[in-house]
Amino acid sequence: MVIRENKMLKHLWQLILQARCPLCQRPARQTFCLDCQRQLQQCQTQSAPLIPETPDDLNILAWGHYGGELKRAIAALKYEDQRAIAQPLGQWIAQTWLQHPHHPQRVGVVPIPLHQNRLQQRGYNQAELLAEHFCRVTGLPLYAQGLKRHRNTQPQFGLSLSQRQQNLAHAFVLGSDRQRLPRHIPILLMDDIYTTGETARAAQQTLIQAGFKVWGVLTLARTYRLTETPATGTSSPNQHPAN
Ligand SMILES: [Zn+2]
Repeated sequence: MVIRENKMLKHLWQLILQARCPLCQRPARQTFCLDCQRQLQQCQTQSAPLIPETPDDLNILAWGHYGGELKRAIAALKYEDQRAIAQPLGQWIAQTWLQHPHHPQRVGVVPIPLHQNRLQQRGYNQAELLAEHFCRVTGLPLYAQGLKRHRNTQPQFGLSLSQRQQNLAHAFVLGSDRQRLPRHIPILLMDDIYTTGETARAAQQTLIQAGFKVWGVLTLARTYRLTETPATGTSSPNQHPAN
């Protein structure tokens, strides 16, 4: 009788302690439940990642397109203190990097920083969390404080091109890792979302002006303009999420 009661208690505790999916609160054996995991995988860009030759030679590589469940996961990561999500997402970004045929063998990884005010508000930089897990898989060196955001820019949403550029002009300076930043290998910028590219270009400019080489930017998600089609074909294009 006692053994049976113990077993029941144990089962009850297992139910209580069982991890919940951060996106739907249903029990999950891994970070996400099977259903959310499947929906997230549908956001992955299936074909060779898009790397446009931009005039400033900024390569762009993204795991998936910003929409559907991935949009939901990014919101949870940023605004709901669900930092555990960064682990699988950072690992998926690493797979995208490792499977890409033209990625350089060695790069120094620098996450796009948040301004101090936003960092204090949120308690962490989501791009840095993704970069940490990315670097654990790839073995690439992380320079978490390679850049510092010294201007608290307003969200890019709703601004015109010139307003966005003005908003980000001189937004970044070298951070406290400036002495450690590598000069013999290019820098890989990392962010959660790539939208218009102005943030990445502002960060690139700061590094280039200081004499560093920048390979490009690697993100979890990117938006597509209305004229572009994401390779997954599962959702419509999205525009300008808030920072
Ligand atoms: Zn779920």
